[in-house]
Amino acid sequence: MSTIENNAEHSPHILVLGMGGTIAGVAGRPAENPMQYEAGQIEIASLLAHIQAAVPGDIKLVSQQVANINSRNLTEPLLSLLGETVRVALDNSMVKGIVITHGTDTIEETGVFLQLTCGKFAQNLGKRVILTGAMLPANAPKADGPSNLLDAIRWASTPIDNCPGGIYAVMHGRGCLAMDLAKRHGTALNAPIQASPSSSVGLINPSWLSGVKAVQALWNEDLPIPKGNEWPWVEILTSHAGARSETITHWLSSKVKGLVLAGTGMGGFHDAWRESLVAAVKHGIALVRTSRTGAGETAQDLPEADIVGCLASGSLSAPRARIALQLALNAEKQAQSAGKSLTWQDFFARIAVLPVIR
Ligand code: ASP
Repeated sequence: MSTIENNAEHSPHILVLGMGGTIAGVAGRPAENPMQYEAGQIEIASLLAHIQAAVPGDIKLVSQQVANINSRNLTEPLLSLLGETVRVALDNSMVKGIVITHGTDTIEETGVFLQLTCGKFAQNLGKRVILTGAMLPANAPKADGPSNLLDAIRWASTPIDNCPGGIYAVMHGRGCLAMDLAKRHGTALNAPIQASPSSSVGLINPSWLSGVKAVQALWNEDLPIPKGNEWPWVEILTSHAGARSETITHWLSSKVKGLVLAGTGMGGFHDAWRESLVAAVKHGIALVRTSRTGAGETAQDLPEADIVGCLASGSLSAPRARIALQLALNAEKQAQSAGKSLTWQDFFARIAVLPVIR
């Protein structure tokens, strides 16, 4: 049996941070209709108490409730709070690993945010941060949360040959880099992990590990975490049949700092947007081009030359590209106030050149 003691924080332990989500959700009539439920109802300490008997005896757990929300309502200040909490915990020599329970709707955003702001720190310290969640609420007859949480705790705490510190995710018996996790199905139990390069939990294979190391090798420092109220405003706009220039011109009189264009196919957008996008760049709005297909790469100047100043997003999906652009804009601001002439493009390009791991 594991210990969830009051004074466990003074001895080596795994810190479990609760953010809410379906894993902490409760259905009104779980047997008849488990999918009608409220997310973010149960405290993380109770979720841990429920699985305590199954946690290996030598693992001490400490829990901390950061939030208890439905993750569709995730906010930027909450991301900042989570990032700062993770950094403080990584720095604590008593914390051997970190597990984060999170709603699956926006786990994609949190995964890339933590990778870009805490990934190098975790890697340097050799500590694993594991995100997990669930597709069924905690009181559903076949709730998947308990096994996901147990897998995450095991991954965070078990020395695994050659598996470096970093930001990972576990769902439905499989593990992947957190920045590869995305919900690509509304209801399937493996929804968040279907398309990711992943590995069976407890059975880490060498080719997956070399993919992890290849990504980590491209990364040499973490980006700063924006202060809660200092996140630049960035929107995602989708190109589609019948697109109108007003979708772009609407933003020219706003305080928006960046637009992520979820284009068709290879990330192309409707010709109706071109002129107003050129005007947006002149207004100082940062532009990033990605694909609404949900898979594949968006490459610079393909299939045709890009608007000057607009960057392709590589393998980043629109929600990930949005977080990356916000962090790049924030990093630009900080670099310039420190007298360095780095631009958001310098930071974003470094993020987006990450290769797809297969
Ligand atoms: N709406 C829920 C959330 O993201 C879905 C889930 O956790 O699976 O909080």
